[in-house]
Amino acid sequence: MSSRPARTQAPDRKTAMSSSTQPIIQMEGVSKWFGKYQVLRDIDLAVERGERIVICGPSGSGKSTLIRCINRLEEHQQGRIAVGGIELTSDLKDIEAIRREVGMVFQHFNLFPHLTVLQNLTLGPIWVLKQPKAQAEAAAMQYLERVRIPEQAHKYPGQLSGGQQQRVAIARSLCMSPKIILFDEPTSALDPEMVKEVLDVMTSLAETGITMLCVTHEMGFARQVADRVIFMDQGQIVEQNTPEAFFSNPQNERTRLFLSQIL
Ligand code: ADP
Ligand code: MG
Repeated sequence: MSSRPARTQAPDRKTAMSSSTQPIIQMEGVSKWFGKYQVLRDIDLAVERGERIVICGPSGSGKSTLIRCINRLEEHQQGRIAVGGIELTSDLKDIEAIRREVGMVFQHFNLFPHLTVLQNLTLGPIWVLKQPKAQAEAAAMQYLERVRIPEQAHKYPGQLSGGQQQRVAIARSLCMSPKIILFDEPTSALDPEMVKEVLDVMTSLAETGITMLCVTHEMGFARQVADRVIFMDQGQIVEQNTPEAFFSNPQNERTRLFLSQIL
């Protein structure tokens, strides 16, 4: 069995901001409803800087909603969420600050089809971070090298394979220098032969010390990369543990049933 990737750079707790001893994400008693339907039930979750978390669970259990609350794509109605020391309250003004802190990679890439790869990557840095174009392009090329497709910079998304498009989406997220990156089933829309190239990029990203939350059913990835695996069902965190304990000795009946269906 392969061992988990070491971080090349451990999260630095001494020199970072004073809030660095706090978990980078804090959720306390978080509940959310869509109309009358309660999608999140009393979620408590603290994520340390640099932690790598895999979230799994049946379809409809609230996994996407949970991570979308972290970057404020969804609003919670009860409980408390703080991200990088910023409280996500109903009068939150600086939503851009959250979006700078938290990158997101979606199942369906969400690239702009009429822009080249390089233009997709530099849009945020130029317009949101106000970087000069040349600087944004130089950084974008570095990230394209990191996801191993620098030669695709001047193509349009439609000219790329699904795996390549997803790697562009990961690079685009990294161009904003987020401290946290959220993945929502990044490989589940891909043809099987493209899953590995995306997981490989995610694995090497895990070595950099960035905080990662990945909704995925790729259990090989969870075993190799995650510090913690969280299982959700019916809007609740039912069980969480290290991958070793989670897979070898699941405690909850619902976890066992889920694992028996996907493994
Ligand atoms: P998962 O990602 O685990 O499949 P989701 O967080 O997407 O689950 O959804 C959880 C539940 O909330 C599902 O029953 C889904 O139909 C419902 N839901 C999700 N988004 C919305 C929405 N925007 N409006 C109403 N219901 C929603
Ligand atoms: Mg989902």
